[in-house]
Amino acid sequence: MSRAMQDWDLVVTQLIDHAAREHGSREHVTRWADGSETRASWASVRRDALRMVQALRALGIRRGERIATLAMNHARHLVTWYGAAGAGGVLHTINPRLFDEQLEYIANHAEDRVLIYDAAFQPIIDRLRSKWTTIEHYICFDSGAHAPSFEDWIGAFDGDATWEAVDERDPCMLCYTSGTTGNPKGVIYEHRSTMLHALSGIQRHCFNFDAQSVMLPVVPMFHAASWGLPWGGAATGVKFVYSCVNDAAVLCDLMNREGVTHSAGVPTVWLAMFQHCDATGRELPRLKQATIGGSAAPRFMIERLMRQGIRVAHAWGMTETSPIGTVGAPTHDWDSKSFEEQVDVVQMQGRPIFGVELRTVDLDDMTTELPRDGVSSGALQIRGPWVIKRYFKADEDAANAEGWFDTGDVGIIHPDGTLQLTDRTKDVIKSGGEWISSVELENAAMGHPDVAEAAAVGIYHPKWDERPVLFVVRKEGAALVADDVIEHLKPLVAKWWLPDAVEFVDAIPHTATGKISKKDLRDQFSDYRLEA
Ligand code: ADP
Repeated sequence: MSRAMQDWDLVVTQLIDHAAREHGSREHVTRWADGSETRASWASVRRDALRMVQALRALGIRRGERIATLAMNHARHLVTWYGAAGAGGVLHTINPRLFDEQLEYIANHAEDRVLIYDAAFQPIIDRLRSKWTTIEHYICFDSGAHAPSFEDWIGAFDGDATWEAVDERDPCMLCYTSGTTGNPKGVIYEHRSTMLHALSGIQRHCFNFDAQSVMLPVVPMFHAASWGLPWGGAATGVKFVYSCVNDAAVLCDLMNREGVTHSAGVPTVWLAMFQHCDATGRELPRLKQATIGGSAAPRFMIERLMRQGIRVAHAWGMTETSPIGTVGAPTHDWDSKSFEEQVDVVQMQGRPIFGVELRTVDLDDMTTELPRDGVSSGALQIRGPWVIKRYFKADEDAANAEGWFDTGDVGIIHPDGTLQLTDRTKDVIKSGGEWISSVELENAAMGHPDVAEAAAVGIYHPKWDERPVLFVVRKEGAALVADDVIEHLKPLVAKWWLPDAVEFVDAIPHTATGKISKKDLRDQFSDYRLEA
């Protein structure tokens, strides 16, 4: 029997075709590092992507080969997402904040053939060019001083071309995790996985897009596929407002001037925005939805945004999950909850978006499935069509035979399916056989008005195996002492969770993606000893 429905491959060029056809004149704004601005549209992005397809063909780039970018957020970067995938290639977005050894490793490991970069990163190119063994062509997004400029490169072609015919299970994108231990690992996204993730991500409970949405993505295009925004945005015809600098004053100005309704970023972005608003008295009257993810959104942040009438979507995910796994959005009984209870819900990491499944397993044996009872805490596993099966070039699968991928996170699943992350497997503190959540300690400490940042790590203890030590950065000018922090924590955590010591430090080390680096902190304090 012939099929009843038509063939319609889930390939990402469908997204840009749709955006250009149905939302062609919807514009995108880019504010460049030098303060200048350019405007594009979904129609121009498609046309330029097709010119890039021609330009890649002229360079002899073949199906499946990697085209890398080293760039901030701008509309030309958006063009390369569709141009690379449309040529049948694989877009490899490199994180410019990685260390040189990692940058060297990943471009060689990916066997990138072309690198398209922002002029601001010319020093990286100069340092690493001789070490990158596979890159043959360098193109610069915003200057022609050291390499052909992107505009000139694609400008030689007319865009009268067709997308490369690919299979929906072909790869279209490659992202590396930042690799807090060992070398970064490559995660390949396929056309089909990308499309399914985009379609689920644009729903109301997640990014909540419609054709009126104006989105300023602060999450970089080089981090975890920019949470899928360049793909999902095309499906709904969103207007993108991009900034190459992440300065809160610039972002606030752009948001208000361009009528930004949606934004997305890691918690630190919102912290900087609050500080700017407090110092200047400015507000974000047009903002309707803030998506926060990448690390836990602190309670005061959620509360402040929600009090301003801004919907907060607190999302959890990882590079290996394309990246969205769960989103904290209103539940069916939302309207019957008090404001405080609503904040409680959003503070957790939310429920799986359609397409992925979650479970927790016992931390000791890593196999026994735990009940969804709101108390049992275990290793978080996930499976679904946009969850990794195998890392790029790896010999073995990263997921087990049933598809469960171990996230390295520790969490509790509540009876209604809400995920509450409590820690990373490597960071939980094991004291006398019981687990202490380092993240909960940190969050509680960060609620103190004089604490700028806090990080809890388990330090060897002769009697208890490990005990928590809290490292704290004081807010400027604050005269905070250890006892103040302990007193603040007492009503917030179990007595046996209270840190054995509070140490004040000038700064806490961060990873290339801006998260607290417990590994570096542990290395820094490897000689630290607690008394029995
Ligand atoms: P990188 O390590 O390169 O920053 P990822 O973005 O893949 O890469 O990091 C994923 C990890 O970030 C998750 O496994 C989790 O530990 C953490 N994370 C992401 N979102 C949240 C969230 N909403 N709350 C707490 N932790 C989060």
